Amino acid sequence: MISTSSPSHPRTSGHAVSSKQVGLPERARAHVVATAELPSEFGQFRAHVFRNDRDALEHVALVRGDLNGAEDVPTRLHSECLTGDAFGSLRCDCRGQLESSLRIVGKAERGIVLYLRQEGRGIGLANKIRAYELQEQGHDTVDANLLLGFAADERDYAVAAAMLRTLGVASVALMTNNPDKIQQLASEGIEVSRRLAHEVPPNPHNRAYLATKARRSGHLFAQSGLGEIAAVTPALVAAPGARGS
Ligand SMILES: [Zn+2]
Repeated sequence: MISTSSPSHPRTSGHAVSSKQVGLPERARAHVVATAELPSEFGQFRAHVFRNDRDALEHVALVRGDLNGAEDVPTRLHSECLTGDAFGSLRCDCRGQLESSLRIVGKAERGIVLYLRQEGRGIGLANKIRAYELQEQGHDTVDANLLLGFAADERDYAVAAAMLRTLGVASVALMTNNPDKIQQLASEGIEVSRRLAHEVPPNPHNRAYLATKARRSGHLFAQSGLGEIAAVTPALVAAPGARGS
């Protein structure tokens, strides 16, 4: 059970420190500062608000079930996208992915949706809108970020890993199309038992964006390529039994 009263949390004693890790900075730490039930149109969740030692942001975990020591827990790491999540922007696929993950976890015996406050792939809202402006001038989503002086993707999953450690899961079945996310979590000491494909159908506004993610950022789509992305359906294409409940 997660305590919200103590600012401290258990050290990650379960993770052996290899000689390769000696000398590396200590892993991020995150602790729960508030918890409440959150009934939603997607299911009944428990909402944990976290603080951490890396940034001043309030990251959120929506969880279901007993997670302590649980293996292969369906988990989604969602990065905040104000324009998509709240306004329904069709420039990206964020809201579709968020809703899909909430729907899946909302029906599962146990599961996790982390809502990470790294807006605009980590560059913030104003820069994301500036990047849209550059896209209107003909640059793709990767070049737009590079022109603004950022990496194509500035997101960092160290805090997400710390949140997962605090939640106590043994391993996660990660809902993602982004292999880099799996690698980053693994390098932060989180065991990813498998990947659950997480695709939403494209629309005319985000088709080029999704194609760029597939072509330039290595995102895995069941049917990659601009033309075929349209055929993709939202499905958990994983081992039998992957669906929740
Ligand atoms: Zn978005």
